[in-house]
Amino acid sequence: MDQLHQLTITQAYSLLRSKEITSRELTRSVLDRIARINSKVNAFITICEDSAMARAAMADERIQSGNGGPLTGIPISVKDVLCTRGIRTTCASKILEDFVPPYDAAVVEKLNNAGTVMVGKVNMDEFAMGSSNENSGFMITKNPWDVSRIPGGSSGGSAVSVSADMCLGSIGSDTGGSIRQPASHCSVAGLKPTYGRVSRYGLVAFASSLDQIGPIGKCVSDCAILMNALAGYDPKDSTSVNIPVPDYSDLPENGLKGVKIGIPKEYEAAEGLAPDVSAAVDRAVVTLEKLGAEKVSVSLPHTRYAVAAYYVIAPSEASSNLARYDGVKYGFRDPAAENLIGMYKQTRSNGFGKEVKRRIIIGTYCLSAGYYDAYYGKASQVRTMIMEDFKRAFTHCDAILSPVAPEPPFRIGEKTDDPLTMYLSDIFTLSANLAGIPGISIPCGFSGDGLPIGLQIMGKHFDEHGILKIASEFERATDFNTKKPDI
Ligand code: GLN
Repeated sequence: MDQLHQLTITQAYSLLRSKEITSRELTRSVLDRIARINSKVNAFITICEDSAMARAAMADERIQSGNGGPLTGIPISVKDVLCTRGIRTTCASKILEDFVPPYDAAVVEKLNNAGTVMVGKVNMDEFAMGSSNENSGFMITKNPWDVSRIPGGSSGGSAVSVSADMCLGSIGSDTGGSIRQPASHCSVAGLKPTYGRVSRYGLVAFASSLDQIGPIGKCVSDCAILMNALAGYDPKDSTSVNIPVPDYSDLPENGLKGVKIGIPKEYEAAEGLAPDVSAAVDRAVVTLEKLGAEKVSVSLPHTRYAVAAYYVIAPSEASSNLARYDGVKYGFRDPAAENLIGMYKQTRSNGFGKEVKRRIIIGTYCLSAGYYDAYYGKASQVRTMIMEDFKRAFTHCDAILSPVAPEPPFRIGEKTDDPLTMYLSDIFTLSANLAGIPGISIPCGFSGDGLPIGLQIMGKHFDEHGILKIASEFERATDFNTKKPDI
């Protein structure tokens, strides 16, 4: 078998367990694939060839001794926003270009303990601010389905590395859609868990009341396996919730009888929704009905305020979180400065990119004395109304369906001059973060010109298992996730 990099985690696990392949062979195949195509798609910022091969050898020993689990020996990539001990963690920012963390993020530690083989750190929008990956301080990651197009952001490197078989699974972060959007644009599965489900200890903070970490996989069951490793209480993250974690990979094939799927009427009327996307989502609803689900109409009346509320809350929290990059404690310091204030100014002026600066300016303004009530305070009230919309809707249904992105992946450069248009591409994903609920994106079709389209399934707080179940039934009934980009 010379195409080992094409395996899913589920397939690789069974071949590793039966000793038909070794993790060293699998990891080699993945590293060779990265060497062949990374310059075409720019997915990896750092490739960890030596440590990956060493970990693969350790995993093989563990499997040999009968102590392996479903993730032992599985090559994965990690978004460069998660701290990795001894391996630089850049957040795709010049300000952290040479930052080497002295500790592992909680999720990285969990994945290491499970025996995964991290093959590298992947590209993203700088500090996770963006929807297209064009805001990386280093390079633009390209969509393997069409390299003239964006892969989605901000976890674009994660989605591309999975979609183009440069790893078997990846870990991303989602503050307003950053796992789901690139998953949708690259035709892979991506889950944003409930706020509090996965520890963010060691995740470089963007907007603390919204950030969540989650998996991206080639199929739904791979996301479930990764979730089993990621989820759970961690006293080091004060927002982590101490409730039992189910076995996410328990996804029996017994249809969707009794499951009520809510279709929000506001989403159908959303501005800028491409006809190909709405047609693919409509067809997905029909497929779910055939599987036994019942469709109900629900209303999320405050949806139209989500973009405005998010783009006050997220920049405000970012302006506070990013105050720590002052040239003293981490990463880059501008050597040309003559005094302390000048050093702060030059470090931040030269270290941060344009979008990050825009957000710091907006956020600082929104939080400043005299404006707090009018902006952050008001946006927080709107956020509560959005949460209540979901609470009400979930009294009528078990899950809510929507598109992920309003249109298939657009061309690189198409929206870079117009940040407001870019922000509007988050219309379907932001609400789940504002409400703290889980959401998954799975492949549900292709546009007329062959570009991927994703379906979003949102669930009640802590019901990741419920949405994984619906997603896995849909995946079994369709073949969208088996299609591969030709790269
Ligand atoms: N696109 C959104 C933003 O730019 C969300 C990013 C994210 O989820 N990290 O803020």
